[in-house]
Amino acid sequence: MLKLTFLGTGAACPTIDRNVTSLALVREGETMLFDCGEGTQRQMMRYGVSFAFREIFFTHFHSDHLLGVIGLLRTLGLLNVFGETNRADGLTLYGPKGARRILTHALEVGIEKVKFPVEIVELKVGDTLKRKEYDILTFPTEHRADTIGYALVEHRRLGRFNPDRARELGIPEGPMWGRIHKGESVSLPDGRTIAPAELVGTPRAGRRVVLSGDTRPCDGIRHAALNADLLVHEATFSHEDLERAKETGHSTAREAAELAHAAGVKRLVLTHISPRYSREAPELLAEARGAFAETVIARDGMEIEVPFAEAGAGGGEAG
Ligand SMILES: [Zn+2]
Ligand SMILES: [Zn+2]
Repeated sequence: MLKLTFLGTGAACPTIDRNVTSLALVREGETMLFDCGEGTQRQMMRYGVSFAFREIFFTHFHSDHLLGVIGLLRTLGLLNVFGETNRADGLTLYGPKGARRILTHALEVGIEKVKFPVEIVELKVGDTLKRKEYDILTFPTEHRADTIGYALVEHRRLGRFNPDRARELGIPEGPMWGRIHKGESVSLPDGRTIAPAELVGTPRAGRRVVLSGDTRPCDGIRHAALNADLLVHEATFSHEDLERAKETGHSTAREAAELAHAAGVKRLVLTHISPRYSREAPELLAEARGAFAETVIARDGMEIEVPFAEAGAGGGEAG
């Protein structure tokens, strides 16, 4: 499963309707946080996001994306004392240029030391974090600060294995099925050789989730979001306030939707909504849907699941 929980969806300062920015991404049981505005830890409790995460990714270090890390790390330290969570391996904080200096300061605020190891990793645009089943890519954004956007890109998966055909061919169920599924030709006791193409379909695309952070619409995002399953794009303003968006390095809802349309994404979620709009922000939604129908406006606590493109098609897995 791949699921996003929007912990804070407002711009600049918290309001009754929206906390400042943070997003939890849970993939196959692994939780990652993206940005950590003030009050993020309480939003995690409220919306049932696990504290058993190991990584926070910062898009930039404006205070509405940063200040929550100070309290969150203190709370994680307390939980460690009571043995409620094991942080023996510590936590890694990622961010663009300035990460080391700013996050080191943040860890020193409050006098008492953070009680588990915290590693700070400064990323450059174009860096890739390679993982077993997915990569995290960084891409350039434009926001009058040192910023990066993030894309989680799953590796291609094996093609579907056809168990009925395997039985027809008299291939004994067991390890041999797994070997064929992984692309090996196998020899049967009767001398036949079975090539994987006889039983396994073409490899299937993984999912692609793209997070813009605060930014003007730009080629960096357009490129990263090409055919993405989900684009989370900031939409601080309505298009009436285009000039203000340009001045402050933000996007309008219409601009974000036009970008989503141009990039051919499947779904768009707009977030980082200015406090000047109401909770449902109908004017932002209307102008965005005019350019791209598959748009929703994020609210605090909203959960979005990202299915595989061919979900529901059924089919066998042979290990
Ligand atoms: Zn912001
Ligand atoms: Zn910002």
